[in-house]
Amino acid sequence: MKKLLVVISSIVLAITGTFWLTATGTVHAASNWKLKVVNVNHHLSATYVPDLKTVDNNQQLDTRVIKSYEQLTAAAQKAGATLVAGSGYRSYEHQKEVLARNIQQREAKGMTYAQAKKDALKTVNSPGSSEHQTGLAMDFLTPSEAQAGSDVTQAFAKTKQGKWLAKNSWKYGWILRYPKGKKSSTHISYESWHFRYVGKRAASYIYHHHLTLEQYVAQQK
Ligand SMILES: [Zn+2]
Repeated sequence: MKKLLVVISSIVLAITGTFWLTATGTVHAASNWKLKVVNVNHHLSATYVPDLKTVDNNQQLDTRVIKSYEQLTAAAQKAGATLVAGSGYRSYEHQKEVLARNIQQREAKGMTYAQAKKDALKTVNSPGSSEHQTGLAMDFLTPSEAQAGSDVTQAFAKTKQGKWLAKNSWKYGWILRYPKGKKSSTHISYESWHFRYVGKRAASYIYHHHLTLEQYVAQQK
C-alpha cells in the first residue's frame, strides 16, 4: 500500500510539474521590457535613457523596478543581510569614459591604441553593451565594503549578502545575471554581485531551471 501511494504521488508530481513548465514557459513575448537583453551582441542606442529614480547610496534605477527593489532590500535586511547599492544605472557617456580611461591606462604601460583597446574590452563593456544602461541592474556591496569605499569583489559570493541574494532574489523578480559556468551564453564571467530585474514569473523560471536570461528569451521565441 505504501509503495502504491509513493507511485501515485510521483505521478501526480510529474503531471503538475509538466503543467507548471508549460504554463510558465509560454507566457512572455520577447518585446517585454522586463526581458530586454543587452550584451555584446545586443546594444542599446547612445540616446537610450530610462525614467530614473534614486535609491540608496546615490544610485539610480528605472522607476518601474523601484517597488521590487525596495521589497528585495527590505527582505534582505530582515534576514540580517543588509545590502548597499554599489552601481545601478550607468549612462552611455559614462561607459564611454570608463572604456577610454582603461585604454589610456594600458597605453601608458606601452601598448599601442589597438592593443590597449582590445585588451580593455576583455573586462570593460563597450558603450551600449552594458546592462547598467537599462536601469534594470544593480551591483551590490556589503555595508563594510561600501564603508571602505571598495569596488565590487569576488569575495561577495561568500558573504551573507551574496549567499542570501543568490538564494532569494528570484522571489522579488531579480536574477543572478551572470552565473558561474555560463560565459558562453552571457559573454560575461561569473559576477556574484550583479542582479537584474526580469519580473517574478521569469525570475522563478530562470532560477529553478538554471537558465541565463539569453537562454530564457531564446525559449520564448
Ligand atoms: Zn554590474
